[in-house]
Amino acid sequence: MNLLDLNLIELENLLKENGFEKFRAKQIWDLIFKQGDWELKSQNNLPEKLINFIKEKTHIFPVKIKTEQKSKDGTIKWLVEVEGKKNVEMVYIPEERRNTLCISSQVGCTLNCKFCHTGTEIWKKNLSPAEIIGQVLLAKKQIGDFIKNSKTLTNIVFMGMGEPLLNYENVRKSCEILVDKNALDFSWKKITISTSGIVPNIIKMADEVKTSLAISFHAPNDELRTEIMPINKKYPIEMLLNACKNYIEKTKQMVTLEYVMLDGVNDSAEHAHELAQLTKRYKTKINLIPFNPWPGCEYKRTPMKKIKEFADIIENNNIGISIRKNRGNDILAACGQLQAAFQNGTVK
Ligand code: SAH
Ligand code: SF4
Repeated sequence: MNLLDLNLIELENLLKENGFEKFRAKQIWDLIFKQGDWELKSQNNLPEKLINFIKEKTHIFPVKIKTEQKSKDGTIKWLVEVEGKKNVEMVYIPEERRNTLCISSQVGCTLNCKFCHTGTEIWKKNLSPAEIIGQVLLAKKQIGDFIKNSKTLTNIVFMGMGEPLLNYENVRKSCEILVDKNALDFSWKKITISTSGIVPNIIKMADEVKTSLAISFHAPNDELRTEIMPINKKYPIEMLLNACKNYIEKTKQMVTLEYVMLDGVNDSAEHAHELAQLTKRYKTKINLIPFNPWPGCEYKRTPMKKIKEFADIIENNNIGISIRKNRGNDILAACGQLQAAFQNGTVK
């Protein structure tokens, strides 16, 4: 059993069932989440019997760093080994006003979006809550957040490997623990779940998880979207946007439509007008992402001049729009790229 899979009440119950006092649960959480001491090495007030119980009957840390690469712009990318000797990616992006950690939710992905490298890999497994929370704790340790007792890390995004809403229960539970004030005390809106549009779980999320939501939108009509994202056949645009509307109404959180700019595919002025018309009635923002090419892919990045023209058309329709900065280009900081380089021996 992994202690990080348990919320506070579950941990309290586990301790009670094994003859320990309930309040010890908060002490254990304090060591793990506030002090970053998940090996329970520090001088602490826990009775020896309890420490032995934890060490013999449970384990706490399911992930470890395999490689670290630092970009000139401060971005750090880690390849993280999860249980079963499988690897996922995690990227830390420091900016002026926020510092964001991008984490993974699955090893591989089943959805085969054509522009995404992760989609070309075979799906291997869902990450457990412990493996998801473990990524955040590892990153905080690496950036010195526990030593300084600071909150350098301000935002978490589920934009690494995998489709979070196809690992719904584990992602929900990890968020529940991340926002707990006795754990890392994140606010819901500082956590963003990015999804290709698993509609039933977006509807479920509105009642259970109140994070910010990002939708991998990428095309302004069903024909094109189904071509580049096969999941659109099951959950087409109208259904998806209605689920977003419901999410905004219920949670009052922001929904952003991510739009990856693929040269000559979805980036014409007509596409921009179509996207503006489609999204005008919904209170969503649009985030344009310059495409990150990977070896063997069939797409190219739209030139920046054309991305700006596309953005202008959207803006002229009074829709909030931003263009994502490309970070960590020198360390292969694009979805699925470090993992691939590691497999083929480019990165040791
Ligand atoms: N499965 C989820 C989250 C992981 S992908 C989702 O699809 O939303 C995170 C984001 O990276 C998505 O918006 C995805 O569309 C985008 N992405 C994937 N491959 C990319 C690439 N090569 N270049 C730029 N963005 C990419
Ligand atoms: Fe999976 Fe997201 Fe990549 Fe699509 S974009 S293949 S859903 S990880």
